[in-house]
Amino acid sequence: MLDADFFRRWMAVTASSVQREADRLTALDSPIGDADHGSNLQRGFTAVAAALEKEAPAAPGAVLVLAGRQLISTVGGASGPLYGTLLRRTGKALGDAAEVSEEQLARALREGVDAVMQLGGAAPGDKTMIDALTPALEALGDGFEAARAAAERGAEATTPLQARKGRASYLGERSIGHQDPGATSAALLIAALAEAGGK
Ligand code: ADP
Ligand code: MG
Repeated sequence: MLDADFFRRWMAVTASSVQREADRLTALDSPIGDADHGSNLQRGFTAVAAALEKEAPAAPGAVLVLAGRQLISTVGGASGPLYGTLLRRTGKALGDAAEVSEEQLARALREGVDAVMQLGGAAPGDKTMIDALTPALEALGDGFEAARAAAERGAEATTPLQARKGRASYLGERSIGHQDPGATSAALLIAALAEAGGK
């Protein structure tokens, strides 16, 4: 079972991965965006880590709802409301249980990803964070390691795609040949699950 400590670790590991990879995320956002994805997420997850240290919510759902709220209020770019919605909706789906199973987490994440697709209108293949999140969901039944590998493959598979949503879509065919920054950061979020859980 996964308790609030696990979820706080998940967010803390994500915050340090984003910190470590911020320059790379911004570099990916430079040919097909406005070169701010790394700094956007760094600002957001720094706020998440600080809020979680201050409030230390006692339930998994509350950890994710608080994290999502921080992302929505601190990140100016498109990715803030989208990741904020992902975490908030996933947290709400977990309710106020003190511990949740991996299966419950997988179901809740599915609701979170559906909410992101509804908010942003992106479908798989549109060259967005959805292209890492969807394969991760499909692999989650086989554990966090499998989800991590699937998300990384999904992020890499965005390179030959033409963007159909977000800023990169303004470039049309010129968006082809670059890995999507948001799919890359989504793979970091999923990798952090495996690192937090040690599975
Ligand atoms: P902005 O585009 O406002 O500068 P960021 O650079 O922080 O925001 O984030 C860009 C990333 O957000 C993209 O690489 C993409 O993965 C994701 N994204 C943008 N628009 C959408 C959308 N409508 N649905 C899902 N993801 C999106
Ligand atoms: Mg950007």
